[in-house]
Amino acid sequence: MIYHEVLVVGGGLAGLRAAIEAHDAGCEVAVLSRVHPVRSHSVAAQGGINAALGNHEKAQDDSPERHAFDTIKGSDYLADQDAVEILTSEAPVCIYEMEHWGCPFSRTADGRIAQRPFGGAGYPRTCYAADKTGHALLHTMYEQTLKRRIRVYEEWQVVSLAVEDGRCYGVVALDLRTGALEAVGAGAVIFATGGGGRIYGNSTNNIINTGSGMAVAYMAGVPLKDMEFIQFHPTSLFGNNVLMTEGARGEGGYLRNALGERFMEKYAPQAMELAPRDITARAIQTEINEGRGFPGGYVHLDLTHLGAERIMERLPAIRDIAINFTGVDPIYEPIPIQPGQHYFMGGIDTDSTGATEVAGFYAAGECACVSVHGANRLGGNSLLETIVFGRIAGRHAAGYVKGEGGEAARSGLAKVMARVLGETEKKVLRVLEADGPEDPADLRDELRETMFRTVGLFRDEKTMTAGLEKVHELRERYPRMGLRHRGRRYNLDWARNLELEGMILVAEAIAAGALARRESRGSHFRTDARERDDESFLKHTIARLTGDGPRLEYRPVTITRWEPKARTY
Ligand SMILES: Cc1cc2nc3c(=O)[nH]c(=O)nc-3n(C[C@H](O)[C@H](O)[C@H](O)COP(=O)(O)OP(=O)(O)OC[C@H]3O[C@@H](n4cnc5c(N)ncnc54)[C@H](O)[C@@H]3O)c2cc1C
Repeated sequence: MIYHEVLVVGGGLAGLRAAIEAHDAGCEVAVLSRVHPVRSHSVAAQGGINAALGNHEKAQDDSPERHAFDTIKGSDYLADQDAVEILTSEAPVCIYEMEHWGCPFSRTADGRIAQRPFGGAGYPRTCYAADKTGHALLHTMYEQTLKRRIRVYEEWQVVSLAVEDGRCYGVVALDLRTGALEAVGAGAVIFATGGGGRIYGNSTNNIINTGSGMAVAYMAGVPLKDMEFIQFHPTSLFGNNVLMTEGARGEGGYLRNALGERFMEKYAPQAMELAPRDITARAIQTEINEGRGFPGGYVHLDLTHLGAERIMERLPAIRDIAINFTGVDPIYEPIPIQPGQHYFMGGIDTDSTGATEVAGFYAAGECACVSVHGANRLGGNSLLETIVFGRIAGRHAAGYVKGEGGEAARSGLAKVMARVLGETEKKVLRVLEADGPEDPADLRDELRETMFRTVGLFRDEKTMTAGLEKVHELRERYPRMGLRHRGRRYNLDWARNLELEGMILVAEAIAAGALARRESRGSHFRTDARERDDESFLKHTIARLTGDGPRLEYRPVTITRWEPKARTY
């Protein structure tokens, strides 16, 4: 059996940062990822990463405290304020570390890290590398893992988490190249498996963002938190939902409806195009629903007044994508956009050290819910979360392994791993040999269409109940599917069908949480309960998997300094 002191699952920003930290704390570390690390979704991040550096001329009195307030207000007061204070106070440290590691940030005229305005932020504090910030950060981070010679298992997919008596012992993973199932024991496991955007239709996410880590943890008994809060990005390309960064509006882009109006003045008269994402996305969809969009259902993101020079310098990739995917050159013509599913605020329930209720099992990044985003994440705060909390989780996992936790885990290791390997083997073979009539591609498409339509931007009891029933139906049809190709090597059909069950279970947790939350807060907007209800719902939703689907519990939100107020922009 393979064994590592610390095993990190996920090669995106959160995973690599956790691995570096655990390594530097003296642990033997390995990273396991279903794709080469630099193909993780972090690489696709465009607009930037937040830190109160105060480099912009309009932000000289910015501070981590102001950053914390914007984040908490943005979260519609659902974020845990102690965790947010960690996020924003650690932000400058993490950015300067990335700078010293060689990250090629864009610069101000006097050579400091450039910062641009972003939605919901009182000051321009989003650091960027043109519109390819994730690319710059992830490649810099990957260099640091290479420098440390951290072992990476590339193209291995984790299928189960080994948990017994409240303690984690490792994972069982499929080596996609050979099709062999392997037990990987570990002193501590850190999941940094990213988001689940592809459980939804119309998503801006990479096709590998299926929420698989959340599902694996959930199926092993670890609860998920605040899953009903799904972010819809205001500006994704009409027709295929490729992201058009918020940085386009940060640089001064306008949103216009089919009448040519800058309609945001009706919805957020002060912030205009730089209102938070929940408000802006709903404003766009309202314009479309009320007949002021263009035929087919889109509005315009207009950059034409910015001029060629600024677009070429600050938004070159946006221009390339718009030209390649829609034939529109943003220098001369407005870009057709519509809201698209973008981000999971919820995830594996952790505390602010990355620890879960299972000893030795940690989570960080988009798959985790610490919670710093509450009901609505501000743009630029997710990249920040991956680095800040990746680092913290790495440090705490290392501390756990070096303490008595690691020793105790090793004593029962072989027995537990043998049991979980045996159970997982049965499950993967069942999927490989499945020859029922259902086509898994249909199940996936139906799931995505259902989630976008019924647990989307606008929600109500009747539609969500129908959505949940459909998800139950898919859960029943799943065992009747058939696999077309039965080879073991690189059988991606097999790998994807294996995780489909988890996608359905996570969808169920999202829909059940949304249905039970009879209020509107941040991204969760109900047309049949339009107001925020702090009295009944200023609390986190915790979903635990049972034989009959999710069982919901609630937990108070941590308020330190900022009492909930009405949220206007
Ligand atoms: C198009 C786009 C643009 C964005 N732009 C910004 C931005 O400008 N600013 C910002 O703050 N945020 C942005 N975001 C959000 C942000 O990029 C992500 O939330 C963040 O990068 C997630 O990082 P992560 O390390 O948690 O996960 P990811 O980078 O998604 O990495 C997940 C890793 O987990 C691995 N993995 C998953 N499941 C398994 C499994 N079962 N077995 C083995 N390995 C597994 C994958 O191989 C991958 O390596 C953007 C998101 C998108 C989609």
